[in-house]
Amino acid sequence: MSADKSKITIAIDGTAGVGKSSVGKAVALKYGISFLSTGQMYRCLGWKVLEKGIDLNDEAAVIKAAKEIVWGFERQADSSLKVLIDGQYLGSKLLLEETGRAASKVSAIAQARNIITQKQKDLGRAGGIVMEGRDIGTVICPQAPLKIYLTAAPEARAQRRVKQLEQEGQKADYGEILASIKSRDERDSTRAVAPLKPAKDALIIDTSNMSLEQVIFRVLEAAAKVW
Ligand code: C5P
Repeated sequence: MSADKSKITIAIDGTAGVGKSSVGKAVALKYGISFLSTGQMYRCLGWKVLEKGIDLNDEAAVIKAAKEIVWGFERQADSSLKVLIDGQYLGSKLLLEETGRAASKVSAIAQARNIITQKQKDLGRAGGIVMEGRDIGTVICPQAPLKIYLTAAPEARAQRRVKQLEQEGQKADYGEILASIKSRDERDSTRAVAPLKPAKDALIIDTSNMSLEQVIFRVLEAAAKVW
């Protein structure tokens, strides 16, 4: 279709812990374009809200905190964009379960969400990017010629997360992680604003019984048909 591969836009959506980032990064590297895990931005806002002691249910205060953020993006060697909040990179704080829970809550507040999605739409329009999230194909980049929707059984995702945490030397409780994944799925897919769902023209891949390499292969195969 388009000869200019540097302007490729690929949308990857799916449930928590399904491997969107690993797949997205590999695909972005292959095409020499950027990769953005959009959840990082909600995690940054969630962390800021917790750090400032703002009540997660105080919508006006959360919206104010979102408005005040100065965002920065730094491209890393592995193609991913590191998200800076007010000039600061939060690193491992982004991965804390409590940051994830706060992210999920703040992302359900329409006005806070709008502030973040505007920024993401700008990045998507500029092109040369693989973006992963929950609403990339449906809201952020509906124009993307390739939209992928990854799904996997909650149990498979919890097992992968346990393995990942253990490899990083962190403690992991399977039951707790499974419960957290299920409640996040529930909240992400039933919220009023931009609920998690595949775009009409998305390629849906169930990764429950697939290796990461197999999923990457499927996505690259689909991309090769478009570009
Ligand atoms: O993908 P990640 O787990 O980092 O996202 C954290 C939370 O941010 C998700 O549970 C979801 O509620 C929210 N999110 C979202 N829309 C996106 C990406 C993430 O609502 N595009």
